[in-house]
Amino acid sequence: METEILSFINPATGAKFGEVKMTTAEAVRNAVNEMRQSFAVWSGKSVKERIRILRKFQTLLIDKRDEITNVLNQDCGKSRQDGLIELFVTVDMLAQYCTQAPKWLKRKRVSPGLYLFKQCFVEYRPHGVVAVITPWNYPLTLALPPVLAALLAGNTVVLKPSEVTAATGVLIEQLIQSVPELAPFVRVVHGDGKVGAALTQARPDYIFVTGSTPTGKKILQAASEHLIPVALELGGKDAMIVLDDANIDAAARWGAWGAFFNCGQTCMAVERVYVVESKYDEFVKRSVSYAKELKTGFTNEFDSPYFMGPVTDPHQADVVDRHLEDALSKGAHVLTGGKAQSGFYNPMVLVDVDHSMLLMQEETFGPVMPIMKVKDEAEAIELANDNAFGLGASVWSQNTTHAKRVADKVQAASVIVNDSIAQFGIPMLPFGGIKDSGFGRTHGQEGLMQFTRPFSYAVGGAPIKWDIATILRENGHYDLATAIMGVIYGTTLQQKWETLSQLFRRKPDVQSQKVSVQSKAD
Ligand code: NAD
Repeated sequence: METEILSFINPATGAKFGEVKMTTAEAVRNAVNEMRQSFAVWSGKSVKERIRILRKFQTLLIDKRDEITNVLNQDCGKSRQDGLIELFVTVDMLAQYCTQAPKWLKRKRVSPGLYLFKQCFVEYRPHGVVAVITPWNYPLTLALPPVLAALLAGNTVVLKPSEVTAATGVLIEQLIQSVPELAPFVRVVHGDGKVGAALTQARPDYIFVTGSTPTGKKILQAASEHLIPVALELGGKDAMIVLDDANIDAAARWGAWGAFFNCGQTCMAVERVYVVESKYDEFVKRSVSYAKELKTGFTNEFDSPYFMGPVTDPHQADVVDRHLEDALSKGAHVLTGGKAQSGFYNPMVLVDVDHSMLLMQEETFGPVMPIMKVKDEAEAIELANDNAFGLGASVWSQNTTHAKRVADKVQAASVIVNDSIAQFGIPMLPFGGIKDSGFGRTHGQEGLMQFTRPFSYAVGGAPIKWDIATILRENGHYDLATAIMGVIYGTTLQQKWETLSQLFRRKPDVQSQKVSVQSKAD
């Protein structure tokens, strides 16, 4: 069979700028095996030593910033500055993890409970080989942070970047390979879903996936065969709720930003907006005006005059068009924006939308901001929750107590007040989903600790006679054990006294005789 080739195509210009061979299934298995071999060496290094090596990678990332933003610019069509945002978030994550990791990964002493003469510890050990499977919308910042977190925790890693942005996958591979102390502990395999499937079949010890919900379900099913633990960071349909006490101008400005940043190709983009009646007209007017200010286009310059590039994956444009067509046929109106030159759109604001439309139910992942008028906050919450996804949401109110009351009722794994998307860029906040948006968390302490399994260690001499736990384990101590349980855990004075006094009230051998006579009769 001929080796398949992945071409690097700039989605803004259609120009081919490189290619890579897809990794064969056999080479994927070899990569996993190789990482299994090198696991002992990497996991044997102290956390401090791993941090020292990862800091070298941090230095390299900053040194190579222009090269990195150049590849992201060509590969995704996004501006160099948007590429720099990906790098910034990655470096920020790595730096904060390196600071926190010694504390988080340290073994913890826990209470021995009744085993008074033992010492008990929890150690956080790595899984082994971690597979990281990533999408195309932020090919750097959705790939490197989980790879680096898994390494920090002591795992070796096999990364499978998206086939749509394969050039960034190759760049990541080159960056890792150029740090000799890191190179033996990471492998990058290139290709499409087939290569991803081969990776899950190669039996890694943990799988971290970012992608669509259908892909997440397939991987979960494949992983269940060998009981491989999986973290699923899947799709979203984030709601934005604008309350009557919101700063409407800021809501419109940052709502538009959240809908159109990265051409709407963000898992937690503002995908639907619910505005209370009293503020609806003003919000719509201002959103249209902000959307019109956001220019579309492509340049390789460091500072771009354009806010939005093209749709990165041509297949995604089909989804956007299908959702638009469906909405328009059901009565929606476009107030501004629409298709520009091939692959590009001008930011679109839609009104007269409702929940019968795909645009309000399925993930659009494009530069569309549908706005719906609601009677009050109760209706806004009800509609926000009328969706299969549960990734993030945003609430706008100048009264943070009011905002929190609403946030508490929204079915989402994260809510941001008076902003959009930004919670993803805060390294110490765990990020993930509920409902069809998946499970597991990236970022925050949870994002690092997922790459470990707790190992329990209890140590001491052989059981001694007067240890409570020894008393419990030896025959003939029914009443004494009752008294100990009652005195320690009894919830009222009466219960404590009643259980203690049993020790003096009842002769245990009389009771046990009764039981043995009865069992003979049976
Ligand atoms: P996708 O599901 O098409 O692909 C994701 C990755 O999975 C790719 O690397 C792909 O090659 C691989 N893959 C596909 N089939 C596979 C299989 N059977 N076995 C193993 N791997 C397989 O997603 P996409 O189009 O690249 O990315 C967009 C999606 O990602 C959107 O739904 C978006 O919401 C989601 N996303 C989620 C988050 C989050 O943090 N929750 C972040 C960004 C993107």
